[in-house]
Amino acid sequence: MTQDPVTDPRALARALSGRMLIDGALVAARSGRTFEVIDPATGEPVAEAPFGEAADVEAAVAAAVRAQKDWAGVAARQRGRLVAECARLLGEHVEELGRLLALETGKALRTESRVEASVLADVFTFFGGLGSELKGETVPFSPDMLTLTLREPIGVVGAIIPWNVPLLLMALKIAPALVAGNAVVVKAAEEAPLAVLRVAEIMNRVLPAGLFNLLTGLGPECGAPLVGHPKVGKVTFTGSVETGRTVYRAAAEKLIPVTLELGGKSPMIVMDDADLERAVAGAVVGMRFTRQGQSCTASSRIFVQDGLHDAFVERLKAKVDALVMGDPLDERTDIGAIVSPQQFERVRSYIELGRDLPGATAHLCSALPDDPALAKGLFVRPVIFTGVNNACRLAREEIFGPVCTVIRFSDYEAAIEAANDSDYGLAATIWTKDLRTALDATRRLEAGFVQVNQNLVVQPALSYGGIKQSGLGKEATLEAMLEHFTHKKTVIVNMA
Ligand code: ADP
Repeated sequence: MTQDPVTDPRALARALSGRMLIDGALVAARSGRTFEVIDPATGEPVAEAPFGEAADVEAAVAAAVRAQKDWAGVAARQRGRLVAECARLLGEHVEELGRLLALETGKALRTESRVEASVLADVFTFFGGLGSELKGETVPFSPDMLTLTLREPIGVVGAIIPWNVPLLLMALKIAPALVAGNAVVVKAAEEAPLAVLRVAEIMNRVLPAGLFNLLTGLGPECGAPLVGHPKVGKVTFTGSVETGRTVYRAAAEKLIPVTLELGGKSPMIVMDDADLERAVAGAVVGMRFTRQGQSCTASSRIFVQDGLHDAFVERLKAKVDALVMGDPLDERTDIGAIVSPQQFERVRSYIELGRDLPGATAHLCSALPDDPALAKGLFVRPVIFTGVNNACRLAREEIFGPVCTVIRFSDYEAAIEAANDSDYGLAATIWTKDLRTALDATRRLEAGFVQVNQNLVVQPALSYGGIKQSGLGKEATLEAMLEHFTHKKTVIVNMA
């Protein structure tokens, strides 16, 4: 495996084919079985990935247990330095990682995959600087006793990640876990195992063998034995609500802590006094149209007040129409392909459902690519639905595709009520020039992440995570590192 960045993603996919990372070595599954990794823009297989099962989980966890013993004894700041060194090395591979990610996920290189690859290093730099913040407290318990708390690592952390933003979401889990003194075993999503494997291989040039293991495989055969393994003391999961529940139940059997980052159906409220152009641009970003809408924070329920509604829809349609759909690796492309045939069918079924809704209008945007090489690609035209309300399935269920509903409202109170009338509570935005309305909404919107007049994506140092069915626990901050990847030990020294 070459250490230099490889900018031909197909060559890199071939070089990584059939391997995962256990105890510092790139290995096949114990069974020798594999599954195909498909380029969703062409339908062509680009690599095989090992079909990891319980025996592979066993080997990875055993390696992690061994490595963690020494790692816990490394000074916290030094652990941070090594994680920051990984950031430097990953920074040299941004182009390579972005291309590989575009190839396996179908996310356009310029608008999405390269951006994600560059944020990756930022997350490792951020957490790498927090080693010396793993502080305990002193407690004024008794004059005769020195009473204090220590932050200690949990041991081995199991991390299960999805395919939509695999590099970033993996980094938000493993960077704090490692700095806090844990070893990690990651189960990659079956749709996107390659770029995360390359990250693991790069980081293993810096980290001790066995500290960061990366398994590929399917959920029940590989993810479940990882969650259930007796030596895994913590599970951090990002994925669907349904699988999140399964993971939570399995963790409950072992009584281990779990962090869950699940789905969303995020509202965006646009008041009559909002800046139309900024709000429309915010909707394009918020809905993650350039990621084919494949985001748990997607602003998929857009509530627009009467006075701005028609102009908003017209401008939004024009803006989304102007996005170019095509080969994810082409620099001209704004929107790539949907990740897998299952997701493709799922998204299409919601579009069909919406078309059958009485009163609904489906505004189809952007043109499908005409390149014959992409004829078998999983491309879906973005759709903006109008004439619907918050009660329909389009507005209640997470679609995870380029489909949003624009819902008209007249009364602010009704908009807040509808925005909160959802099983989810991940993100929300309000667009208005009125400070009083903005501040009122920030207090009342039921979500883990509320923004006014903008739609920033996840950033290190900003607490990220949802309430209600959107999850348990927050990520991306110092507090998240302390709460989720350490336990607090109380020590009392009797000095009498
Ligand atoms: P999606 O439907 O988008 O693939 P999932 O929640 O099923 O979302 O997948 C997220 C991650 O969870 C993937 O890595 C997947 O393999 C894993 N997974 C699926 N089922 C299980 C399970 N029973 N136990 C542990 N992990 C699982």
